Amino acid sequence: MAILEGMHILVVDDEKIIREGAERILKKEGWKTTIAESGERGLELIKGNEFQILMLDLMMPGISGMEVLKNVREIQPDLLVIVITGYATIENAVEAMRNGAYDFIPKPFTPDQLRIVVRRAMDKINLEREAELLRIERAKSLQDIANEKSKTLTIINHMADGVLVTDQNGYIVLNNPAVTRMLGLEEESPLGKHLSAWAGSEDLTRMLEKVLSMESSQDQGISLELAWGDPPKSFFVAHSAPVRSDKGEIFGSVTVFNDVTWLKELDRMKSEFVDMVSHELRSPLSAIRQKLSLIVDGLTGEINEEQGQIVSRVQHRIDGLIGMISNLLDLSRIESGRLVQQKERIALPEIIDETIDLMTQEAEKKELKFEVAIDAQLFPIHADRQSMETVITNLLSNAVKYNREGGRVSISARNRGEFIEVKVADNGVGISKEDLPRIFDKFYRIRSEYTRKVIGSGIGLPLVRAIVEAHFGTITVESETGKGTTFTVLLPRGIS
Ligand code: ADP
Repeated sequence: MAILEGMHILVVDDEKIIREGAERILKKEGWKTTIAESGERGLELIKGNEFQILMLDLMMPGISGMEVLKNVREIQPDLLVIVITGYATIENAVEAMRNGAYDFIPKPFTPDQLRIVVRRAMDKINLEREAELLRIERAKSLQDIANEKSKTLTIINHMADGVLVTDQNGYIVLNNPAVTRMLGLEEESPLGKHLSAWAGSEDLTRMLEKVLSMESSQDQGISLELAWGDPPKSFFVAHSAPVRSDKGEIFGSVTVFNDVTWLKELDRMKSEFVDMVSHELRSPLSAIRQKLSLIVDGLTGEINEEQGQIVSRVQHRIDGLIGMISNLLDLSRIESGRLVQQKERIALPEIIDETIDLMTQEAEKKELKFEVAIDAQLFPIHADRQSMETVITNLLSNAVKYNREGGRVSISARNRGEFIEVKVADNGVGISKEDLPRIFDKFYRIRSEYTRKVIGSGIGLPLVRAIVEAHFGTITVESETGKGTTFTVLLPRGIS
């Protein structure tokens, strides 16, 4: 056994030959041993030292072994006592055991018998020490767990985001104050209630059901935007994920709520501002454009060629500004859900043809070639006509604007499952990997030698995406610098 350090044996026997013999044998084993010739001396030594094992003769003159044993129980209750006894006093040995002695050895004994009995006592001490260490260790780890738990709870309770944990049946097992405050449900504690009964939100209940039935461990969770109140007063994004055991079984869910009301409010204020400014700008610009037309058309008198050219250029710039303002207005309208309301059954090829016609002048200046491939059996779509014109115009005009002399612009439309796929591709300047993820951000324009010369506002693509998404479609882009760009739009087919 490993833990033998610090063992100290005391042998108390009035028979010199026994106690000295025992001392010799024990010391030979390398065990620290002290001897005493009487009960009195033995007790004295026990009071002043720390022994682990006491070998105690029962039959001694003066204070008897049995007395010593009783005293030892009081002085050092954990001292392990082995009584040394003659054959005739075996009953005494039994009594001693009853009084707390651990073992006994009859006299006379052989060195081996002595070693065995002492070793057994040492083993017992070692086992007890180990058990004690384990107990301390366990108590410590329980304490650690308790500390950890209270630390985690403190953190969760002080989080600004709402946290809600359910078991695998959807009953709430943990929540923080933020979630009850956010949902305006501070009155009653959610603990033990089913989420659907407590929050009363179908969206939340459906999300939880989905999360709790996510079979694949690849499924990370669901995010959902929630409008809270009727009419909505607050807006949240709820991220919900399953909690799995090591084996991947779901034993609950955890949902974190971010309050995005202020972001919504900011967005609304921004849209209102853009709306207001655009309206204020559009009318005077349109008036200026009309007046300029009067000049160009000669209704205000003769103008020479140079004057005509200057006014035309001004008109062109004003057209750019009016286009940008229309885009801005459309974007703010679509963001507030006011645009795509007039859906009708429309045929995309018509819109594509008309848009290409409008672009030819611009394209000819750069000697661009148009390639058009439209599936003859193309499904109609159910969409807002003006919005679709905006989508095609913006994509085609970008393919023209960001192209080189003699370049190519191709547009194709085909049926793809339940969708119609429209691709607008060019072999122009392309977009770098770094810029690609940002081109759908509002007002984002790529800064390069080439794009510096192109007039634009950075709201064409965000508007296109907003329109496509409002029609339950998607838009993706692939591009490589210097090689060209392809935009792919998928729109759900209309009921034919
Ligand atoms: P802009 O008014 O600047 O054209 P967009 O939102 O339409 O705004 O496009 C954002 C940016 O994406 C553009 O400034 C341009 O740099 C890049 N971009 C868009 N389409 C293409 C394209 N077909 N080829 C290369 N770059 C493009």
